[in-house]
This record gives sequence, structure tokens and C-alpha cells, in this order.
Amino acid sequence: MVAKTEQLYEGKAKILYATDQADRLIAYFKDDATAFNAKKKGTIVNKGIFNNKISAVILSMLEEAGVPTHFVEVLSERESLVKKVEIIPIEVVVRNVVAGSLAKKLGLAEGTELKMPIVEFFYKSDELDDPPINEDIAVALGWATREECQFLKSQALKINDLLMAFFDRLGIRLIDYKLEFGRSPEGILLADEITPDGCRLWDKKTGEKLDKDRFRRDLGHVEESYQKVFDLVTNA
Ligand code: C5P
Repeated sequence: MVAKTEQLYEGKAKILYATDQADRLIAYFKDDATAFNAKKKGTIVNKGIFNNKISAVILSMLEEAGVPTHFVEVLSERESLVKKVEIIPIEVVVRNVVAGSLAKKLGLAEGTELKMPIVEFFYKSDELDDPPINEDIAVALGWATREECQFLKSQALKINDLLMAFFDRLGIRLIDYKLEFGRSPEGILLADEITPDGCRLWDKKTGEKLDKDRFRRDLGHVEESYQKVFDLVTNA
């Protein structure tokens, strides 16, 4: 049994702890919710419990389908064991339908269909509000090599096919989401979490939003939406 040692890092939604195994960390999922780069703060009751399990199911599904991830096992209601990685400072956003910042930037209606999935890179920086970047910027500044950037894009598209099929079976439209990757001795692993905090998920029949936009936009029924995704994902 792996044992927790010191706290390494507290992020907006998770705390990372070192363990007595050098290559393993424990991620603790909090109920804290932030939006607009922590300009809006709140709590989503039991979010940590929902997200720990949702992410575990999804990352296990991806791993089985041939996408290496950092996930090892669930340890408790709010804790999972993960592989230690060096996070690549690029947030990889995948979009299947226009929403959020893309809708705003281009003056398009949310829900506008896309002819193909879009993969966008953002620089992971709280101070700078995660600005949009491209592959050349990432390579020129040494954040990732050309090969790594191309791998991130191809993995993102592979993950997208798997996630689209997974959520479709649950009656959910996967609109967009953010991925993070990390370097490890085993190569580049999908890291972080895949949960309603970092995905836009719309009910296929009703169009109802089942993700963090309910918190960001004060739409109400936030906990119920996370619970609904939890129920669907964990019964999958
Ligand atoms: O805001 P934007 O439309 O660019 O977000 C696209 C997707 O990426 C959304 O699902 C959002 O939840 C996710 N995202 C995230 N963390 C960020 C930026 C975006 O989880 N820092």
C-alpha cells in the first residue's frame, strides 16, 4: 500500500501529494470550483467525489483503448494514485461544436456545427490567463519539441474519437474539452482529469448543459448536473 507523504502542490481543483514511491503521486479532488481563472470562486458540493470517479472511469477506458495515461487506481472517495509526470505547459483544447471562447472570438452562435474537430493549443499560465499559442510558439520557446506537439495533436484526435463514442452511448454530446499531457520515463502520458470541470457536455435530447458552464454562468442545478454525469459514467 502506497503512503502519502508531503503536499507538493495545491491547484484550483486538486491537491497533489508525494508518496513513499518516487514515481507515484496521490491526487486529492476538492469541491472548490473556480471560473475565469479564479476570478469567480465557489463550492460544488461533492464535486471532488464525482470527479475522482468520473475521471477514473474515463482514463481507464482510454488506457484500455491504447492511450497511455497517468491514472493508476482509485484509493478512496476523493483520492487517486497517479504516475508522476512533468506536465507539458500546453493546454490542448479539442472542439467538436462551437461554444465558449471560440463562439465569443468569432461571433458565432454556441451549437454551430464544425466540419471537423479543432485542436487548439493554449499556454498553461494562470498569470497570463492561458493565452492561445500555436505549435511554432511552443517549439520556439522550448515548451515542447515539434515531435511532441505533433504527438499531442494526434493523441488528442485519437482521444476525441474514443470520448465522442463513449459519451454518445451515454446520451451526451461532447462539445469541447481540455487535455493536459506529461512526460514520464514511459513516454508522454495523458495527465490531469477528464471531468465536467474541463469538458462541455450537453444532454443529447434536451440540450441541457451538464458541466461547469452551469457554475460559470449561474445556471443553477450545478450539483445535480455533476451527479447526473457521475451516474451515467459510473453505470456505463
Ligand atoms: O473557454 P473555452 O471555450 O476555450 O474552453 C474550451 C474547453 O476547455 C471547455 O470545455 C473548458 O471547460 C475547457 N477549459 C479548461 N481549462 C481551461 C480552459 C478551458 O478546462 N483553462
